[in-house]
Amino acid sequence: MALMKFPRMLAVLAAGLCLSATSPALPPDAPSFLIQGAQVADGTGAPLKKADVRVVGDRIAEVGTLSPAAGERVVRADGLVLAPGFIDVHNHSTEGLKTDPLAETQVSQGITTLVLGPDGDSPWPIAEYLAGIEKAPAAVNVMTMVGHETVRSLVMGKDFRRKATPAEVVKMADLVAQGMREGASGLSSGLEYDVGSYAETDELVALSKPAAKDGGFYMTHVRDEAEKALSAFAEAIEISKRGGLPLQISHIKLGTIGVWGKTPQAIALIDAARRKGQDVTADCYPYEAWHSNLEVIVPDKRYDDPKSVAEALRVLGGPSRITVTACKAHPAYAGKTLEQIAKEESLTPVALYSRMVREGGADIIGHSMTPEDVRAFYRQPWVMVASDGGINTDHPRGAGTFPRVLGRFVREEHLITLEDAVRKMTSLPASRMKLADRGRIAPGLKADLVLFDPRTVIDRSTFEDPRRLSEGIVLVVVNGEAVWSEGKPTGAKPGRVLRGPGAAGSRP
Ligand SMILES: [Zn+2]
Repeated sequence: MALMKFPRMLAVLAAGLCLSATSPALPPDAPSFLIQGAQVADGTGAPLKKADVRVVGDRIAEVGTLSPAAGERVVRADGLVLAPGFIDVHNHSTEGLKTDPLAETQVSQGITTLVLGPDGDSPWPIAEYLAGIEKAPAAVNVMTMVGHETVRSLVMGKDFRRKATPAEVVKMADLVAQGMREGASGLSSGLEYDVGSYAETDELVALSKPAAKDGGFYMTHVRDEAEKALSAFAEAIEISKRGGLPLQISHIKLGTIGVWGKTPQAIALIDAARRKGQDVTADCYPYEAWHSNLEVIVPDKRYDDPKSVAEALRVLGGPSRITVTACKAHPAYAGKTLEQIAKEESLTPVALYSRMVREGGADIIGHSMTPEDVRAFYRQPWVMVASDGGINTDHPRGAGTFPRVLGRFVREEHLITLEDAVRKMTSLPASRMKLADRGRIAPGLKADLVLFDPRTVIDRSTFEDPRRLSEGIVLVVVNGEAVWSEGKPTGAKPGRVLRGPGAAGSRP
């Protein structure tokens, strides 16, 4: 077969004309198409292999050396890599999907399934949210967790700054069970955030149990990603062990000076639990900066105490490493560092911080991880790629995570192989989400597919321009329909709701 000179150009023959397949091996009236000549990364981590892939309806029908049936659409893919659709297990598009169902920043990265409700904050009621998505589908498949903060707020209201009573814990556990029945895939928590942080370990263990009973897992933004990160990882492992369910550590990181370089200890802690048979995995976004709120950096919550605030700024590397992305009380602060704003306002950074919290807080980006730690986590076989972003995210990870890993960690740095990177984006998250029919390229599985150019794929989003679209993702297919082609969304919305293991007869 002759190599095409312009591998990014797709030859879609007879598109929009007669689409019915005539091969005797295919159902007579099924719409089908053939992707020919791609290097297939099948999602398992196996070496790239040149193969043709036929899609019939919403499934992968055949993989091998295939010829087009009469009238069948053909996508020439010479020089391109065909992978299973990317599954983002930590995505914040719960609201964004309502206004942007085509999810341009997501599908342009190759994402085909979003897992919503991380960090303890989920839609509620879950049945209602998922039914709404089914009524107004998106370009991508949607899954959700049930959030600890969400159920804790439902039970405790505004009186959450304390330990829950046994009766309250029972009520919360009932809500977790309800969430699982309605389609959640497990329990998520955000123990660094206001509502979740007041829960003790025992409360999380108690709420894990109904999730475990329905085959769910525990996903956690741990209690401390800073100076006490190691004990926070240990607490997560304890909750998963006592709750009897698998563990996913969200956006694993070592976010302050005192723990920089302690990746060997963190990895050893997790490897030890895995060796004892515990199912522990993590996800990691490929950036050295995080995105959160102003309050989160002062762990003892003494926002007016100059000593606490000064210490918080010190361990993050100083006020020049904190950039405000949004501030209701002072919109003009957006894009500036705490150091710059303090100078402009003639305040010390500490005084500025306390004033900003009193005036309603702000969203911030902290440049406080080291590239070496991020890369050490990425080399671990149990670390998957996830964005912690989503539609309208003010951090470049929202539009760039997956192409950034393929362009920078694979092509430029040779940190991991292309096959392994694809595995971290597909079969590994699929197995965590118990998606038996997605995350790999094999006959019979759902046709969620990504075609990309391994020579050009790259993120273009930056801290200044966080929603700039990635490049090099050529074609994205969800349930057999193209959602991204020729550099834009096709307008198709074939995404489905994928309910978790506790929902009866759930999987479409
Ligand atoms: Zn988080």
